Amino acid sequence: MSLETDTQKSDKTGKVYLVGAGPSDVELITVKGKRLLEEAEVIVYDRLVGNGILMWGSRHARYIDVGKRSGHHPIPQEEINQILVREARKGQKVVRLKGGDPLVFGRGGEEAAALKKAGIPFEIVPGITSAIGVPSYLGIPVTHRDMASSVHIVTAHKKDGSLPDIHYRSLAEGGGTIVFLMGVSTIGNVMAGLLEEGMSPDMPAAVLERGTTSAQRKIVGTVGDIAKKAVREQVQSPAIILVGHVAAFQDMDWYGNRPLAGKKILVTRPRERSLRLAALLREEGAEVLELPTIRIAPVEDGEGLSRALDGIGAFSWIVFTSPSGVRIFREELRKRRQDVRSLAHLKIAVIGEGTAGELENWGLYPDLVPEQYDGDHLGEALAGCVKAGEKVLIPRARIGNQTLVRRLEEAGAQVTDLPVYDTEYESFPWVEYDREFASKNCWAMFTSASTVRGFVKSAGDMDLSKVTALCIGEMTAGEAERAGMQTFTAARATLRDLVDLAVKMAAKEREDGEGQRQPDGEK
Ligand code: SAH
Repeated sequence: MSLETDTQKSDKTGKVYLVGAGPSDVELITVKGKRLLEEAEVIVYDRLVGNGILMWGSRHARYIDVGKRSGHHPIPQEEINQILVREARKGQKVVRLKGGDPLVFGRGGEEAAALKKAGIPFEIVPGITSAIGVPSYLGIPVTHRDMASSVHIVTAHKKDGSLPDIHYRSLAEGGGTIVFLMGVSTIGNVMAGLLEEGMSPDMPAAVLERGTTSAQRKIVGTVGDIAKKAVREQVQSPAIILVGHVAAFQDMDWYGNRPLAGKKILVTRPRERSLRLAALLREEGAEVLELPTIRIAPVEDGEGLSRALDGIGAFSWIVFTSPSGVRIFREELRKRRQDVRSLAHLKIAVIGEGTAGELENWGLYPDLVPEQYDGDHLGEALAGCVKAGEKVLIPRARIGNQTLVRRLEEAGAQVTDLPVYDTEYESFPWVEYDREFASKNCWAMFTSASTVRGFVKSAGDMDLSKVTALCIGEMTAGEAERAGMQTFTAARATLRDLVDLAVKMAAKEREDGEGQRQPDGEK
């Protein structure tokens, strides 16, 4: 009986998940955290959580920013607690996303206590704390058999903003690795505290800034001089200060050795299409921000496709100009329970290898792929193959390349240019375009002219001449150029070639000594 009451109650009340997002790299969130984020109806986040991780959330979720933004005051903890309680009471599935681990100086304890008091069910999902994850990305093991047998994680900042009461003597005498969080503004005091309690000024120390991002930096010194160095290097938050023999560890650098280390690349293609490109870029060491600027929306009135399928026997060719076209066409067949063998008489043309790949998932292989993957070349190649009077079906985006249709009509074909989807623009309020492109290490990648248009729309009034645009083909590059971006084009219109372009550009920058900042170079 009581079980039943409980179930009824939880049907009405939502639940809050306190989820650790990890130090910043989007792939350092746990599998559980990512799943919950995908399922969440409300996502409550603050500034320590990387933009990229927010992209894992659903586009239907409500995003609530409770972090301090420049010029704005932080939202008091009490108010954050109330937001969590309020949203859960509405019956929502709430993810409270927190940088690193929610319970390591993350006030997760306070939030959990408030939820418990309010009778709201909650779960805690641990995350990789920056205190341990950031050193590994900068080549420092926090423990080492010969150098450190303990790790102390210490706050260098008190709740009310004053200096914390740190027991410097035990830290100075302990001989372990000390990791100070929130210490950028108090580093001088903290080092003085250690020195006063007898720590050697020669003890290695390091400041690790913006760890696990493309902008990560390691500044190495000693307890005696690290504060001065940090000021000289204008270290910004977030950064951790690490004290102990391991801070001088040299043999483990790996992050900066990869071809695209230090580069942040915005991938603008639709969400469901960005995975492979993002993976290829991450493989080469780039930080990737998946920022789908467009979304594929099947046309509301799908009648046209249905009619075309009724009369599919009359067509000789079917032409696909994008993977989305293939997917929507296939979905329509499925809905109608129409057998794929009804297409057996058709010749199939596709615009390029991505579209061919989508078709292959289906066990179909195209009869024609143009040498260059664009609409003009596809039209040219097809014009040489179709016979006068043959019917050609092109299920594609509402606004497609017109040369393709013209070339086919000139060749005497009867073309049915069938809009099956619209391209809608997406934008993300939490992405600060100006800030992203203030660094020359941030590049944008475009795989179609519509992704460029979507980007321009969502970037608002930003100065687009600051954008370095890596484009898949001439058409895309043309659009980016017209928008005023600095444009580069891949050798061939494939994702691999686009990634190779980035790798070559990065290598050239390094060669020219123009690389802005060594990602984890010591200073
Ligand atoms: N719960 C978090 C810590 C929150 S306190 C965790 O487990 O990591 C915030 C402090 O964490 C920052 O002031 C900084 O010292 C540290 N920090 C968080 N992310 C960081 C990053 N990417 N690089 C360096 N330090 C980071």
